[in-house]
Amino acid sequence: MGRTYDVIVAGAGAAGLTAAVRAAQRGARVLILEHMGQAGKKILATGNGKCNFTNKKQGIAYYRGKNPAFVLPVFARFGLAETLRFFERLGVQPVEKRGGCYYPASGQASSVVEVLLMECRRLGVEILYEIGIRSIQKKGNSFFFHTKQGIFEGRSCILATGGKAAKKTGSDGSGNRYIEKFGHKLTDLVPALVQLQGKQSFLKEIAGIRAECGVELYVGKEKIAEDLGELQLTAFGVSGIPVFQVSRYASYALARGEQVAVRLNFLPEWTAEQANERIWRRFSAHGDGKTAEEALTGLFPKKLGRVLLSESGVPCEKPAARCSKKECAALARKARQLTVDIIGTKGFDSAQATAGGVDTEEIFPETMESRLVPGLYFAGEVVDIDGMCGGYNLQWAWSSGWVAGDSAAGGKKGEEHDQD
Ligand SMILES: Cc1cc2nc3c(=O)[nH]c(=O)nc-3n(C[C@H](O)[C@H](O)[C@H](O)COP(=O)(O)OP(=O)(O)OC[C@H]3O[C@@H](n4cnc5c(N)ncnc54)[C@H](O)[C@@H]3O)c2cc1C
Repeated sequence: MGRTYDVIVAGAGAAGLTAAVRAAQRGARVLILEHMGQAGKKILATGNGKCNFTNKKQGIAYYRGKNPAFVLPVFARFGLAETLRFFERLGVQPVEKRGGCYYPASGQASSVVEVLLMECRRLGVEILYEIGIRSIQKKGNSFFFHTKQGIFEGRSCILATGGKAAKKTGSDGSGNRYIEKFGHKLTDLVPALVQLQGKQSFLKEIAGIRAECGVELYVGKEKIAEDLGELQLTAFGVSGIPVFQVSRYASYALARGEQVAVRLNFLPEWTAEQANERIWRRFSAHGDGKTAEEALTGLFPKKLGRVLLSESGVPCEKPAARCSKKECAALARKARQLTVDIIGTKGFDSAQATAGGVDTEEIFPETMESRLVPGLYFAGEVVDIDGMCGGYNLQWAWSSGWVAGDSAAGGKKGEEHDQD
């Protein structure tokens, strides 16, 4: 028989490390069981290695799931201000960048992992790596973790094993086994913040282009979501932040077998009338001696101009001045509504997050404790909450981790007001 702890955390990711730190700050004896050889592997990949760890703009609108309002009591206990203070105390100097995104001043995601591990060390949190948890059983008031390295007993258990995105970082969905064994329901899991695969062959011609673009997601005839930002066109389909932001809805609709398409607006600053009028002027008044393709030079990247012309039925070589008003209107429409039929996503391995997880109806949001199994807590992406791109997924991991750790430590006193 191994040793006994107040709190045992499964998963040394963003949520698990925060939960462990908070529980230990409250005076609890804490053990983390991690199946990879290192902690926080996914954190290292965040924000292109720079870690966009939260965002100045907060609110329910940035979070998704069956019940996004579930985040509110969690953030009421540990929200943006508490997160910034928590990390500043650990040594991470926050720097605000574009879109309200916060990064560590070091510009290194590794600093975030390191300060969390330093705090674990300071507080005596034990971490066992490459653990291989075979099962977790509750007997009486204790949880027994049966592992390759022996049996560990904890009075509370925090499951922070992540979702299924980017499994090379450790979150391979294996933690869901334990969750279901405890009788908890998982809502459908689909990739979120992920690239979408398109059907049209013209995608190969415009691959490599990046453009400011409006992206509207349609399921059948209904517009479900939209976003604006830098679109990246690739040979397989569409990518970039505005695509990521709408992708979870595409994932769910595709899983239901519904028809999904994105409409791309390459003239997001112009109204339909302005687009009509300005393209007509470009062709009629300034198109003298130019072909239709040449008349688009300076408005669109060359390859995109060609595709827009061919998709609107205007030959590239046609003299611009001879294009009719109707042809210019068709071109303007296409430039504002280029449709790409979506046939799939790039899957969990390419996704930055998982939509779906432990049903929030089965968790108390004030504590992150299970409504079914007393002493069992959840934290992070394992729960049916996913955030938008921009630091929201990590914010959810820190907040739910802190609340789970604080609650799991129970009556322990310790550094009671550490967040002040
Ligand atoms: C490329 C990329 C970039 C991203 N960039 C950002 C960003 O800039 N900002 C942002 O907010 N979010 C970003 N995210 C999302 C963010 O990283 C995650 O939402 C967040 O890390 C989730 O934290 P977590 O602790 O719940 O899960 P994870 O960080 O996935 O941690 C789960 C941990 O549990 C361990 N584990 C899993 N199963 C078991 C098991 N059976 N036994 C023991 N241990 C187990 C895993 O090895 C892992 O260490 C990004 C994600 C990716 C993939």
